[in-house]
Amino acid sequence: MAEQLRYDGQVVVVTGAGGGLGKAYATFFASRGASVVVNDLGGSFKGEGNDSKAADVVVNEIKAAGGKAVANYNSVEDGDKIIETAIKAFGRIDILINNAGILRDVSFKNMKDVDWDLIMKVHVKGSYKCARAAWPHFRKQKFGRVINTASAAGLFGNFGQANYSAAKLAMVGFTETLAKEGAKYNIISNVIAPIAASRMTETVMPPDVLALMRPEWVVPLVAVLVHKNNTSESGSIFEVGGGHIAKLRWERSSGLLLKCDDTYTPGAILKKWNKVTDFSDPQYPSGPNDFLTLLEESQKLGPNEQ
Ligand code: NAD
Repeated sequence: MAEQLRYDGQVVVVTGAGGGLGKAYATFFASRGASVVVNDLGGSFKGEGNDSKAADVVVNEIKAAGGKAVANYNSVEDGDKIIETAIKAFGRIDILINNAGILRDVSFKNMKDVDWDLIMKVHVKGSYKCARAAWPHFRKQKFGRVINTASAAGLFGNFGQANYSAAKLAMVGFTETLAKEGAKYNIISNVIAPIAASRMTETVMPPDVLALMRPEWVVPLVAVLVHKNNTSESGSIFEVGGGHIAKLRWERSSGLLLKCDDTYTPGAILKKWNKVTDFSDPQYPSGPNDFLTLLEESQKLGPNEQ
């Protein structure tokens, strides 16, 4: 049997830990030896209001089970204050789980600036602010683990969620860059697109389906990714929920290369459109194409067919 993964002596910050997935992360890490900052603003799922009760209930539950936890009630937009709570209470920060989130679902035709701005503030700015405040600690101690939270809506789009989709795909680019910048300092960053029963999903899915999507079933993947033994899986995107875990990656067609001269026209592209979209010999890139080499090769070609 594999040894139980533990987090003794480590400090975990979980944002939006007053309910749903965040609560499941917080109680898990506390049960495996970590000290946990339970952050939650305690507002509605649309981002209205605030209430300290959400975080307090989880902290009390953790303490009653013999674990270590403190509450923080700031919005993730003030991420520096959340990280400060970790430093003041426990003297360090090892693992950051950017989980807090809200929805402002509305068709794009009816979307208002406030729906767009609030989603960007909580998901994008909130994740940035928490990670930015944790970063100097991670670099100094040459250890850090970050989980950012995307969504299938961000990866694939979803009706009524233009704001949320944009914010959630932003989490992918953010994670990729943190993974690259953190590599030298043993800072590992990954992004998950979870699916779980919570107040966010309870209105859009039937109870029998929700029963098969417990938040607790997202936790084990996150536990593996943020563990100190994971020193290589970084900058990765995972779908996780209902017992299923899969990694996603970019796929690039081998593509069309044209000569860059006055025969480089829309007609020349249309003539060979099938090469642009041909995935029979795909690449799985982790960075942009080698533009300079391609440019050199294109110059060796003859004029393009029209
Ligand atoms: P949830 O509503 O149960 O939990 C989100 C928590 O974040 C709430 O407790 C809320 O009070 C808190 N929060 C909201 N705004 C905050 C802020 N500004 N500062 C601090 N806390 C704040 O929802 P959940 O389903 O557990 O969602 C957790 C994360 O997973 C979110 O980022 C969500 O977008 C993402 N997600 C969930 C699903 C799913 O199927 N449940 C699917 C895709 C993505």
